[in-house]
Amino acid sequence: MNRVTIWTEARQDRTEEAVRAVYPQGMGDALAQAVTSPGVTVRLATLDMPEHGLTQAVLDATDVLLWWGHVAHEEVADEVVRRVQARVLDGMGLICLHSAHASKIFHALMGTRTLNLRWREDDELCRLWVMDPAHPIAAGLPDHVDIPQEETYGEYFEIPAPDDLVFVSWYPGGEVFRSGCCWCRGLGRVFFFQPGHETCPVYWQPEIQRILQNAVAWAAPSVTGRPFSGHCRPLQG
Ligand code: ZN
Repeated sequence: MNRVTIWTEARQDRTEEAVRAVYPQGMGDALAQAVTSPGVTVRLATLDMPEHGLTQAVLDATDVLLWWGHVAHEEVADEVVRRVQARVLDGMGLICLHSAHASKIFHALMGTRTLNLRWREDDELCRLWVMDPAHPIAAGLPDHVDIPQEETYGEYFEIPAPDDLVFVSWYPGGEVFRSGCCWCRGLGRVFFFQPGHETCPVYWQPEIQRILQNAVAWAAPSVTGRPFSGHCRPLQG
């Protein structure tokens, strides 16, 4: 059983009509519907909860954390960021969605800066090409997925070279973007997935839901407990 916590800042989907029209119950609800499947339990957490809903107890009971934030990155407490980072290093999976490229937790884990890509909001086609058909996150997909409307992201994307590059997006305006990237940090697995602009119905699209389910399965911890570190004695002799 994989225990998933979905964290959203829950601001624009409460206050902006264009977002509410797409996600009337909130983006957290849509993401919960996307990843719910046999073998997955889902909990929701939001910025305005005490400790942003990410207490140590919640994180300890989380195998994979999804993160969607956009306008309120700076409101996330540094203490909570350090706590999430530590859990990732101890093995929790983290899936950073869309504008989470500018989140504190993404920066903490990747060593990147806030303004780290090019972007424009023209609601154009995003053609998501599968770079690695054998990767578990691409399981069951055709060679590309068309998202009818999405925000355009383009290179250069200031990230460390991904361990696995699963998707590259192409846009009619000419941009390309590394839109599905995997890294290991400590014992944890991190996946950045670009689609998910708040005014586009991306998370209702079945292929995107499949990718998110695959990503949860991929990012789930493969070890329990923490390996020994510290002063040691010889194993023999
Ligand atoms: Zn966006």
